[in-house]
Amino acid sequence: MVITTKSAAIVGLNVYSINIEIDTINSIPQVLIIGLPDTAISEAKERLRLAIKNSGYSFPSTKVVINLAPADLKKEGTNYDLAMAIGILLKEGLIKDFDFESTVFLGELSLDGSIRPINGVLPIVCDLSRLGIKKVIVPIDNLQEASFIDDIEVLGAKNLSEVVEFLNNNIELTKIKQNIETYLNQKEDFNVDFSNIKGQLAAKKALEIAAAGAHNVLMSGSAGSGKTLLAKAFVSILPPLNKLEAIELTKIYSIAGLLDRKNPLITKRPFRSPHHSSSPTGIIGGGSNPKPGDITLAHRGVLFLDEMVEFPRSTLEVLRQPLEDNVVTISRAAVSVCYPANFILIGAMNPCPCGNFGDSKKTCTCSEFQINRYRSRLSGPLLDRIDIQLRIQRLNEDELLNDNTNVESSSQIRQRVIRAREIQLERYKNEGILTNSELSPKLIKKYCKIDDDTKNFLKQAINKFNLSARSYDRLLKVSRTIADLEDKKDINITHIAQALQLRDN
Ligand SMILES: [Zn+2]
Repeated sequence: MVITTKSAAIVGLNVYSINIEIDTINSIPQVLIIGLPDTAISEAKERLRLAIKNSGYSFPSTKVVINLAPADLKKEGTNYDLAMAIGILLKEGLIKDFDFESTVFLGELSLDGSIRPINGVLPIVCDLSRLGIKKVIVPIDNLQEASFIDDIEVLGAKNLSEVVEFLNNNIELTKIKQNIETYLNQKEDFNVDFSNIKGQLAAKKALEIAAAGAHNVLMSGSAGSGKTLLAKAFVSILPPLNKLEAIELTKIYSIAGLLDRKNPLITKRPFRSPHHSSSPTGIIGGGSNPKPGDITLAHRGVLFLDEMVEFPRSTLEVLRQPLEDNVVTISRAAVSVCYPANFILIGAMNPCPCGNFGDSKKTCTCSEFQINRYRSRLSGPLLDRIDIQLRIQRLNEDELLNDNTNVESSSQIRQRVIRAREIQLERYKNEGILTNSELSPKLIKKYCKIDDDTKNFLKQAINKFNLSARSYDRLLKVSRTIADLEDKKDINITHIAQALQLRDN
C-alpha cells in the first residue's frame, strides 16, 4: 500500500502542497527518490537512512521508492526530509494512524536525527491554512516565526523521535502563542535621528516631503557633505510598519534566511545600502536557487545607492521595472518568480568626477565635458522615476558651531509624515494607490488641479526651465505632497515654487 505524507514547497512567494508517496519493493535495499528532485534531495537518501537509524529505528531492508508530487514542480532544498522520514516509519508500521491528510511536516534532518531549521517557514505556514491544512510540524528553531499565524496549529520539534512519539500519542510537542502587537509596540530605535544632524534644513525639509509622498530622491554633493547620514536618518521619519506590512516583510526575510530567533518579526522599515561592487544578482535577486535581492529586502523601506553613478549601468537599468511596478520578476530557464520590491530609492552622487563642482570652498577641476559625461551615466528613463533632486551643501561655520539645540527630532517630523500619508490614503482609497508618487498622468489631472494664477506661474516656470512633460508631472506630484503636509486641499503657487527647488538645475 502506498503511504502519503505532506510537505510544502515555496517558489518565489507562492506556496505549494507537496505529496510524498512512499512504497517499498522486495528488491535490493536502496532508496529511490523521483519527481524532479535536485541534488539536495538526492543527498537526502543518506540523511534519511542515518537519521532514522541514529534515532533508534530500523530502516527498511527493501527498495524504498519515494515520489514527490506534483512532478512538474521543480523542488529544491531540504524541506521534505522530515515528511519523507515520517512516511518511511509509517510504512514500516512504527507510527500508528494519524490525520496525515491535513498535517504538513517541514524540516531538514541531521544525521543524528535532529531537525534543522529551514528558510521560508512563515510564508509556507501562512498559506497552508488556505490549502486546508490544520496542523504543521516545524523545526523548533522556526517555531517563533511560524507562530504568528492564528488559523493553524503550529508545533515545534527538536528531533525525529520527538515527532514519532507525538504521532503515537506519547508526548506533546512545543507550542507557543506569538502576539504581533507586542513586537510592533516595542520602541523603535534608529541609528541616526534627524536631531543628530546639524544644519541641512533645506535637505531635511526635502526628505520630509519625500517620506510624506514616498518620492524617490537623488542627492548630489561633495564628499563629507553628509549625504549618507541624511539617507540613514530618512528611515526614522517614515511611518511605522502596520501588522500586514510586518508579516509581509517577515515572509521575505524568512525566504532569504535572514530571520533570527531574537527577531522573529521584522518590525522596522528596512534600510538596504548595497555597495556598487555588489553582484547584480545580490542587488536585484535571482541565482540558480532564486533568492530575493536588496531591492526586495528593501521592500516597504529604503534602498540607498551611494555613489549611484558607479553602479554598473546594467544594474541601474534593471531597477527601472521595479521602480515602475513595485515588483521584480526574475526569470530562469524553468521558472519565473516574482518578488515585491516597493521601496523608496535614495541615490547619492558627487556633483562631478572631482567632487567639488558647486562647492563654496573648493575648486572643481573638471571640464564641462567630463561633468556632463559623468552625470549622463544615469539615464533619462531612470531619472524620470526620481521625483526629487537635491543639492547637499557643506555646512558653513555658523552651522558647524551651532550647538544643535531646538533641532527637530525624527519623531516630530514623523508625525507630520504620518498625517500627510493619512490624507493620501483617504483621497486614493478607490484608486488602488497609497501615495502621491504613484499618481499616473491621468490621476494627476484628477487630483492635482490648480487655479488660473497658479497655472500662469507654472507656465512661466515651464518656459524658464524648459520642463518636459515628465518633469511637469513630477513637479505636480511633489507639489501635491507639499500641499498635503500643510493639510491644504488645493495646490497653490507657494507649493509649486517649493517643488521647483527640488529638481535638477
Ligand atoms: Zn569637478
